[in-house]
Amino acid sequence: MSGASAVAAPLKPAQEILRQRGQREVFCGLTGIVWLHRKIQDAFFLVVGSRTCAHLIQSAAGVMIFAEPRFATAIIDERDLAGLADMNDELDREVQKLLARRPDIRTLFLVGSCPSEVIKLDLSRAAERLSAQFMPNVQVLNYSGSGIETTFTQGEDACLATLVEQMPHAGDKESLLVVGALADIVEDQFRDLFNGMGIDTVEFLPARKARELPAVGNKTRYLLAQPFLTETAMALDKRGAVRLKAPFPLGEQGTTAWLQAAADEWKVPQKTFDAVTGPGRNRARKGLVEYQEQLEGKKIFFFPDSQLEIPLARFLATELGMTLTEVGTPYLHREHLAEELAALPDGVQLSEGQDVDLQIDRCWEAEPDVVVCGLGLANPFEAQGMTTKWSIELLFTPVHGYEQAADCAELFARPLRRRQALAF
Ligand code: SF4
Repeated sequence: MSGASAVAAPLKPAQEILRQRGQREVFCGLTGIVWLHRKIQDAFFLVVGSRTCAHLIQSAAGVMIFAEPRFATAIIDERDLAGLADMNDELDREVQKLLARRPDIRTLFLVGSCPSEVIKLDLSRAAERLSAQFMPNVQVLNYSGSGIETTFTQGEDACLATLVEQMPHAGDKESLLVVGALADIVEDQFRDLFNGMGIDTVEFLPARKARELPAVGNKTRYLLAQPFLTETAMALDKRGAVRLKAPFPLGEQGTTAWLQAAADEWKVPQKTFDAVTGPGRNRARKGLVEYQEQLEGKKIFFFPDSQLEIPLARFLATELGMTLTEVGTPYLHREHLAEELAALPDGVQLSEGQDVDLQIDRCWEAEPDVVVCGLGLANPFEAQGMTTKWSIELLFTPVHGYEQAADCAELFARPLRRRQALAF
């Protein structure tokens, strides 16, 4: 393993980015609980919030009939400052009751929200207090999933950044860390590929068990699997880890370049790399052929929502021949997205932030075949004859890696087929 990051992609001359501020149409960071509670099997997410938060979580995650849920909301009613001490007592009582009933919980996340009563409460102090009380059986951590100035994937970022602080020191141990919640099956596929290249110490954040966190140190090299992990990356950098520069593992080309970044760092011979990745690359390419036929030349418009927009746009344009009209993203991290920006076709209109009314006007003008947006916009658009894809589905569906490349394409082809079927 060498000391520096690998794969330097050439940057294009400054791309024009339209920046607008105004009304936004996004979900809040609490939404991340929906996929994080499935991924981290020994964790429980207790939202400290209002009835609105409870409603959001319940409707987004659905009702779990056969399993005990691993999320809930402690509803905080309106109170003045004098009621804060009671509020802390109440929270402690709720946590006590929960942990007595659920001995399987090893990590409890107190998840902050945006109602003013919750903001008054110091959740990090509460987490410290409760951790002192319940360790070693249960660690209590906290992060914010608040809807103020966030977009829904920031909930995962905040959660993982909190976990980084808990990671043990790695000392001199070299390791590759893959960062971002991935479906277990995708994680296993990536582990096999890295192991096949001779990279044996591969760990994942979040781990399937929150109490079995990987170690981190100066010899940790990490690959981001998701483009929305700014805080997490900063926390890892602070712990001495080094990010490997790469695009994101979406599509055959994105996955190959992402794997190559680690292979270069570990000085894996090109012959070995080709032999290990070849079968997956072939399967991915073959799987994409039928979608090239369906999607080539179709126009797509991205509203800013998941922060996955730029890597997806790159995949859809370069591997499936779609035409990008506008690619909106809530935040554009130039460094993390450098390789993605460089791979976008010339002249794509990028936008950061949102003034939703103006953007809706631009969308109608662009006459896209498919619009990627949040639920709040999708229904009215569909009612007016536009074909949409809910961006949140890209977080619920495994889309990373070779074996999922065709599934990712299918997410965009399906609404077009449905619209066609309705037209007859
Ligand atoms: S955190 Fe804020 S935006 Fe999210 S559901 Fe609760 S009240 Fe609504």
